[in-house]
Amino acid sequence: MLSYLSVTKEVNCLDLERHRSVLFPVNQNAAEDFLRLVGQRLRSERNRFEPPKSSVRSHGLEFGEIWFPTGGCIWDMQGYCTMCNYGRPKAVKPEAMIHAVEKGLELLRPAPEVLWVSAFNVFDDREVPRSARHEIFKLLARSRAKKIISETHPNSVSYNAVKECVDLLEGKTFVVELGLESCDAFIRKWCVNKNLSDDAIVHAVESIHGAGAKCCGNFLIGAPFLTEQESIQSTIFSVERAANIGIDEFAVFPNHVKPHTLVDWLWRRGSYEPPSLWALVETLGRLSYELLNRTTIAWFTPVEHPGAAQGVHPIFGADENRRVAILEGFRRTGKCEMLKPLFEDASDDRLKWKERLQNHDSPLPERLLRNFPLIANDLLGVQWWHVNGALVAEGVSKMWEQCSLNIQYS
Ligand code: SF4
Repeated sequence: MLSYLSVTKEVNCLDLERHRSVLFPVNQNAAEDFLRLVGQRLRSERNRFEPPKSSVRSHGLEFGEIWFPTGGCIWDMQGYCTMCNYGRPKAVKPEAMIHAVEKGLELLRPAPEVLWVSAFNVFDDREVPRSARHEIFKLLARSRAKKIISETHPNSVSYNAVKECVDLLEGKTFVVELGLESCDAFIRKWCVNKNLSDDAIVHAVESIHGAGAKCCGNFLIGAPFLTEQESIQSTIFSVERAANIGIDEFAVFPNHVKPHTLVDWLWRRGSYEPPSLWALVETLGRLSYELLNRTTIAWFTPVEHPGAAQGVHPIFGADENRRVAILEGFRRTGKCEMLKPLFEDASDDRLKWKERLQNHDSPLPERLLRNFPLIANDLLGVQWWHVNGALVAEGVSKMWEQCSLNIQYS
């Protein structure tokens, strides 16, 4: 028989639960929303900044970059992508986007053979209005560049939009870079939090090819929650899978720690380190020669970006300048032989790094569910995980079971 005290306690507990569910109703989309809400919370403290009127990088007559300002990436504002922060720019008028490209072409004159000209998502009409894109590609058509590269989220790609650019470029090669990060759907969702399905990737690739352009997949090494070994394996898996679905070129790049990101939150608590540049070398070295020939690299040195403070960047840890110069030579020329000294490097620091690769961790879903409550409690308040944690855990387990494409993780 229950005592008065325990009955009262029970009633109070029931009341408390009722109050909790009124104040913190279960979010039926918790599994979808969790990392996005975390991203929103982390980015909420950024101040808006005035993007520069134009921003160019010259790499000689072979390659140049023109970045044109926009009001920012829509996915960033929604809280996606656990590693990304380019700051929170103020609104930008279409005329200013066009002017930035005009100015960039002037600064880079004579225009290099290959020109990267982009905002965050060139094919997202909410970020780059169609009229501005039209004018920008008309300007590019008049330049002496032979190949134009622009970047976008795959969800924004449509046949018509790409075709319009191909037609405007009048015979120049047009390459659309797709920010895929990984071809493993589980990693893309639970480590990177990219809102992107396998079907959407295939649709984007078909639309790009159908419109007469080429397609490059961008892949991240060092997604959070992965060991370095898993990162290398998953990037190789991604490049091979991308080749199988017809992607023409690949760009691989190591992750950086940027403020106001989940990666930064983990790094501050000792739960994340940017990958060593040896992980980049190892990934390239394990690709078949045919795939390596179609691969380029990026972000292996710190890259200043307006609006986002420098974070922690990946390094070799020794003999830095010579080794980075080799990577730079490969990036500039695309000649795989240039990487030979790094592939054959048998220095102590590389051997020590290789030993570290053998370190194992618990299975990936367990690792996620060890970290997620800590993240939720700190960033969304303790009640959030209390009420919604089971749904998130269920989402992780279900997807892990369904993902038949998963490579073997430790
Ligand atoms: S990674 Fe790309 S899509 Fe994701 S937030 Fe950054 S710019 Fe946007």
